[in-house]
Amino acid sequence: MPIYDAPTRDMQFLLHDCFDLQKYSNLPGFADATPDVIDAFLEESGKWHRDVLTPLNRVGDQEGCVRHDDGSVTTPTGFKDAYQQFCENGFGTIAMDPEYGGQGLPLALQYAVSEMTSASNQAFAMYPGLSGGAWRAIYQNGSDEQKQTYLPKMTTGEWTGTMNLTEPQCGTDLGLIRSKAVPQADGTYKISGQKIWISAGEHDMSDNIIHLVLARIEGAPDGIKGISLFIVPKFVLDADGNPGERNGVSCGGLEEKMGIHGNATCVMNYDEATGYLIGEENKGMRAMFVMMNEARLGVGMQGLAAAEVANQNAAAFARDRLQSRSLTGPKAPEQPADPIIVHPDVRRMLMDSRAFVEGARALTYWTAIHSDLADKAEDEGTRQKSDDYMALLTPIIKAYQTHKGFEATCDAMQVFGGSGYTEEWGMSQFLRDTKIAMIYEGTNGIQALDLVGRKLMADGGRYWQTFLQEVTEWCADNKGTSDVLDGYIGQIEATKGELQEAIQWLAANGMQNPNNAGAGSHDFLHLFGLVAMGYMWGMMTKTALEKAGGDDPYYDNKLITAQYFFSRLLPMSTTHLVRVKAGAEAMMALPAEAF
Ligand SMILES: Cc1cc2nc3c(=O)[nH]c(=O)nc-3n(C[C@H](O)[C@H](O)[C@H](O)COP(=O)(O)OP(=O)(O)OC[C@H]3O[C@@H](n4cnc5c(N)ncnc54)[C@H](O)[C@@H]3O)c2cc1C
Repeated sequence: MPIYDAPTRDMQFLLHDCFDLQKYSNLPGFADATPDVIDAFLEESGKWHRDVLTPLNRVGDQEGCVRHDDGSVTTPTGFKDAYQQFCENGFGTIAMDPEYGGQGLPLALQYAVSEMTSASNQAFAMYPGLSGGAWRAIYQNGSDEQKQTYLPKMTTGEWTGTMNLTEPQCGTDLGLIRSKAVPQADGTYKISGQKIWISAGEHDMSDNIIHLVLARIEGAPDGIKGISLFIVPKFVLDADGNPGERNGVSCGGLEEKMGIHGNATCVMNYDEATGYLIGEENKGMRAMFVMMNEARLGVGMQGLAAAEVANQNAAAFARDRLQSRSLTGPKAPEQPADPIIVHPDVRRMLMDSRAFVEGARALTYWTAIHSDLADKAEDEGTRQKSDDYMALLTPIIKAYQTHKGFEATCDAMQVFGGSGYTEEWGMSQFLRDTKIAMIYEGTNGIQALDLVGRKLMADGGRYWQTFLQEVTEWCADNKGTSDVLDGYIGQIEATKGELQEAIQWLAANGMQNPNNAGAGSHDFLHLFGLVAMGYMWGMMTKTALEKAGGDDPYYDNKLITAQYFFSRLLPMSTTHLVRVKAGAEAMMALPAEAF
């Protein structure tokens, strides 16, 4: 049975030492997040995730969800109870607005807890995860009445939420949506159509399910400009605001899939279901983007969480499994062979994964701090800067972290040799589960296009300029503190230079031939991801250097991992630059029929 121990020490390092959440105590909620409160949360949450949710991961994989003839869906054994406990412990409401029952604490703490949920059981994590996204979309776009009606029950977890975009003919291209909305005299709409692959679309864990549905109001313009967003509750609320009559929405089937078997992936049929418009008519995409952005950061988290749990198991296996002798002579002469952790190639896989996970965790929490600054900072300038940061970093976190997270999970499985390929050890489930993170919430290819096509040139390049300015200032402020850090700062600056070269190349060649921008987008996103990771490893190195050399080996280990990152992972940036500049010619030359 796979193990999971929440990496609370690393989380504390980031929240206390490196990013020092106390520094932001002027933001609402941050003053309450004292180190003691954070530590207590992490400890309790770590125990619960290890003891309750981790054992259910395998159960979810093996049992899956079951749809009954009446369209109801039963989740795997133990999920419903665990969900009840999850809600009672407040694990999903840490950063929600207290006005609607949330705890109002920093988002970075919520992300730490969400990482535990995703690492211990990704399929389970998606139920509260989607609810959180739906909550935020209503919070930011709903009317006061809608917020009062839906948010408190979604905060307690009594009601869950979903997002309904995809239809059989429309995945990436949401302009193709056909679901229709017919206005009614009472101001509501009748929603009809079919949505597919809807995560948590139907289940037995909550009293009501609040579906957020994209549909086209009769007579609306074609394409993306004619899409509106609706709240469609599974049970229409009665006069007292309690679930009443069953609405015209039902689960027509469950998808059989490669992984996340514990999550119900549903065909949802809407048959004149009562819906309530959120925001303005035909402005649904703007409202839905709030939910999608939240979900994209959550999915980026899934990449790092999968890599964390897979790496923990791979490290335990590598310490135990005896095969061959070390290249430099026996390390366990009393045994018939050495543990495989002595072999450099096994170390390569473990260290690649470790350096990725720790950097990605830092990037995710740092982004959470920016998200709080964007929402809550007093001055407009800080809010704008952090908003730009969020817009830029969202596609990078989603695509870079899920891609690298998948690779790291694959490497962890490789450490197990043949045992990794058998179901018994659980590594196969991690790999099967995490693959979807590269696909949903906009495929990684689409994230890369979003970065190159939209975010890069938005507002005259203000987003990336703001980000690089932040990195430049940090480098300048921290030069001269130690030789080690100076070396790393030099590397960060060089990689930043490569990124700027890539931006210039894309600006010159992407305009002239858009296929050049498309052809380079994946590598450009990964180059950007490496600059962001370099910045994080710079910050972590600085903090670890201040504390290393004492009784706690944690800081010295952090410095070794930093050395690994700067010597073996960051240099990949040069390859990405070369690939960006290779352009589209050879990529697009073969006629389609030659493939
Ligand atoms: C398990 C699971 C759960 C899901 N949960 C939800 C959910 O809760 N709600 C929901 O609404 N949807 C959900 N989805 C749908 C998911 O978001 C879509 O699968 C995804 O958006 C991609 O759409 P598609 O599968 O139709 O692929 P397509 O759009 O057909 O794309 C196929 C390939 O072409 C590429 N491609 C397409 N257009 C372009 C382009 N312009 N440039 C470059 N490449 C391009 C894509 O990157 C991809 O590699 C889920 C899917 C799965 C499998």
